[in-house]
Amino acid sequence: AIPLVVSIATERAARAGVLIKDRLALESMRTVTAVLFDKTGTLTKGEPVVFAVAATEGHTDSEVLALAAAAESDSEHPLARAIVSAARERRIAVPVASGFSSTPAEGVMAEVGDRQISVGGPYLLERSGVEPLADSAAWRAQGATILHVLVDGEAVGALGLVDQIREESRDAVDELHARGIEVIMITGDAQNVADSVAKELGIDLVLAGVRPQDKAAKVAELQAEGRTVAMVGDGVNDAPALAQADVGIAIGAGTDVAIASAGVILASSDPRAVVSVVLLSHATYRKMK
Ligand code: ADP
Ligand code: MG
Repeated sequence: AIPLVVSIATERAARAGVLIKDRLALESMRTVTAVLFDKTGTLTKGEPVVFAVAATEGHTDSEVLALAAAAESDSEHPLARAIVSAARERRIAVPVASGFSSTPAEGVMAEVGDRQISVGGPYLLERSGVEPLADSAAWRAQGATILHVLVDGEAVGALGLVDQIREESRDAVDELHARGIEVIMITGDAQNVADSVAKELGIDLVLAGVRPQDKAAKVAELQAEGRTVAMVGDGVNDAPALAQADVGIAIGAGTDVAIASAGVILASSDPRAVVSVVLLSHATYRKMK
C-alpha cells in the first residue's frame, strides 16, 4: 500500500508542476548531495542566435551562412534552427542540399552540388585537422558557441552563436547552495561556453565537451566519488544519464526519451522547480519516519 502522506505529497507536487513518476526518486531526493544540470535547454533557454559570421579569403559572409543553412536544413538541433533562421532573416538564398548526415556532439554533413559541406564544433575541427579562424578567438572570449563551415575539408568560414541564460537559473543555484547541495554542469558544448555560463551562475564544477555516450559514465564517476546525484536534463542525449543518476529529473518540454528515463518530471522549464522537489522530499519523508 502507498502511505497516505506520500499520495498526498504526490498530489501536492502535481499542483506545483512536479510529476512524481517513481516514488523512490522522491524519497531519494532529500539525500541528494549534488545536482547535475545539463546546460543547453535547461540552465539556458536553448534557443541560440547567430550573432557573428566570418569568412576566409575568397568567400563572403552570405556564402558561409547560405552553405551552413543548406547543410543544417535537415537537422532538428537548436543550433541548426538558429542558422536556418539567420539565413532567412538576412534573406539569403539557401542552396538545395542532399545526403544529410549528422554526428552527435560534432556536427552535420551534406552535399551541395559536388561540394561536401560540414558544419560543426571543436570535434569536427579536430577530426578534420582544421585550425579555427582568427575571428573566432574574440567570440570565444565572450562565451559563444563557435561552429566552422568546411567545404571539402577546408574552412570557408565560422559562425558565432549565443544562448541566453534563463533568469531563474541563478536563483535555482543559490537556493541549492543554501541547502548545502553542490551544483554541477554537464554539457556537450565547448569549455569556453560552459565556463562563461558557470561563472555567471556560480556553479561549483563544470564538465564540458562531454559526448552523449559519456554522460552516464560521468554521473557514475561522481557517484563513485561519494556523491548522491540528481541529474536534470531535457535531451535524448541525457536519457542514459537520467537513468544512471540516483534521481533523474526531466524538463517537461524535453524529449519523450528523457521523460521515459526520469523518475521526476517538471511541467515547466523553470530550474527552480528542482528546489521544490528537494523541499517536497523533506516534507514528505520527515512525517513518515
Ligand atoms: P548539449 O550537451 O549542450 O545539449 P549537444 O550534445 O547537443 O550539446 O551538442 C554539442 C556540440 O556538438 C555543439 O556545441 C556543437 O559543437 C556540436 N553539434 C551538435 N549538433 C550540431 C549541429 N546540428 N550543427 C553543428 N554542430 C553541432
Ligand atoms: Mg540539452
